[in-house]
Amino acid sequence: MRGYLQSIETMGLVDGPGTRTIFFMQGCPLRCAYCHNPDAIRLQGGREITPAEVLEIARRYRSYYGEDGGVTFSGGEPLLQGEFLHKSLELLKQEGYNTCIDTSGIGNRAFFPDIFPLVDTLIIDVKAFDQESFANLTLTKGFGEYLDFLASLENYGFQGQVWARHVMVPGWTDNEQSMRDFVRILRPICHRIDRIEILPYHTAGVEKYRKLGMSYRLEGVEPMDKDRAKELEIYANKVFAEDLQQERKKAQARSEEKYKILRDRQVVSKQEQAEMFASLRELPLLREVAEGDVEAVLDEIILSNIKAGDYIFRTGDAPDLMYLIYQGEMKIFYNTIDGEEQIFYIYRDGDFVGGLNLLVETPYRYVGQALTDCRIIAIPKATFDKYFYDSSVVLRSVLTKSFDRIRWAEELIQRLATSNASMKTAGLLLKLVKRIGVETEEGIRLELSMNREELGNYSGLRRETITRKLGQFKDLGYIDLVGNKVIIVKDLEALEAYVL
Ligand code: SF4
Repeated sequence: MRGYLQSIETMGLVDGPGTRTIFFMQGCPLRCAYCHNPDAIRLQGGREITPAEVLEIARRYRSYYGEDGGVTFSGGEPLLQGEFLHKSLELLKQEGYNTCIDTSGIGNRAFFPDIFPLVDTLIIDVKAFDQESFANLTLTKGFGEYLDFLASLENYGFQGQVWARHVMVPGWTDNEQSMRDFVRILRPICHRIDRIEILPYHTAGVEKYRKLGMSYRLEGVEPMDKDRAKELEIYANKVFAEDLQQERKKAQARSEEKYKILRDRQVVSKQEQAEMFASLRELPLLREVAEGDVEAVLDEIILSNIKAGDYIFRTGDAPDLMYLIYQGEMKIFYNTIDGEEQIFYIYRDGDFVGGLNLLVETPYRYVGQALTDCRIIAIPKATFDKYFYDSSVVLRSVLTKSFDRIRWAEELIQRLATSNASMKTAGLLLKLVKRIGVETEEGIRLELSMNREELGNYSGLRRETITRKLGQFKDLGYIDLVGNKVIIVKDLEALEAYVL
């Protein structure tokens, strides 16, 4: 395992906290107009280095790092060499080094879940604030991927701090509106931001282009005025602080609203409560609560009747409650950047959601909405920490559930990326057979709580397409449609043939 390296700086003071050794990696997928290292854009070339050698060099300089310092990987784009970066970070972390990555967020995604739990500080270069400017500056179409990177950082396991940087070019982003846009882009990770910096554009790299015989796209653009850049940096930080305050207020209001909805709909009838209490002990998550604690737990949790269509939690909600579905169905979805609804899961009786959020204290990434009238049990974080946290059975069941979700999400990504409409429809029907199928004389009966549009969102198809495909499957005799809410699967093998 080897990485390609441009250079090493042994006593860096600006690329991460404290004094650091900086490994400048070779290769970058972007083509920024102001890039000072056009010779480092190719992946191959430069010096080869192994993760063990990285560790060896870090050991040599460890005495200079002090409390905050450590090792930074910069570039080029370090995320492009995912496997090397992962192995190097792993070795460094085993010996307790503080780690930092300086990135533009575009790299080999397959390694992101391995890399990000090992990163203490992320320096994120925000190149531009909209699709068009991003394409103009970097000559790539990666803006959507970039936004997705920001939104997914915590899903990749990142728990560190973020330094956000932007290179300001005169005439491009040297205005207050751009600074507001800059702050808006950072919103998904605002609670992790430690600092926002503006780097004034300078022309020190122009000579290099001449020597390499390359054309320089910012020819004639003057260096950015440092005082004006500082003014705008101060302005961006001010906007960010206000934004953060607003976000906190909104989160607080959402949290209060959520509690209010649950309390308003709390089950009050003694008989209903008694029924629920009796069945609660049968649910896997509550089976483990010690007999002596049951009364106290039942006192603290909230049992609510939720109407079909009501929201149970939303993206960005604080991890202050987890939810157990006592009865009914809930859909978990995410609004894509195109404004489409992508349904990830449908949960039903006995399923729970939010356990991992409480464990690792990360906000909800998705939206939970009741598909049918539901009875939900909300477990506050304090109750979870007091009565559930120490139970290995509960922890195992939260982790197993999370693992199932990752597997399901991976399957979904695979299905969306590689299947045609017939395969997606057949795959969806098979999934539903597994989850809610009931054997009857006519075939396997699927009682749906989703309409056609939601079925489409679940499988990555448009409503018209899924309606057409179901019609085709009916004509072929694979299924029967009874009204809008019941499907009878008559030929399971034929459906399986599409996906196997
Ligand atoms: S991201 Fe950095 S290394 Fe890559 S092209 Fe832009 S300035 Fe150059």
